[in-house]
Amino acid sequence: MTQWKCSNCSYTFGAETVPDQCPSCKQACTFSDVTCYIPDCGGPGNIDPRLMGKKDKPINE
Ligand SMILES: [Zn+2]
Repeated sequence: MTQWKCSNCSYTFGAETVPDQCPSCKQACTFSDVTCYIPDCGGPGNIDPRLMGKKDKPINE
């Protein structure tokens, strides 16, 4: 499962695909993939704290 972060409200959630609307703010936001892909942060299904600290880089604009 991929972890997504809303560019609008910074809400994070797990989903297979990017939703049309953010589950939290209900806006048609852009979402950043913040999934952890390395063992350091727990592997897939967890959020990579390094990505959370980065400036948002929209992937679905
Ligand atoms: Zn949101």
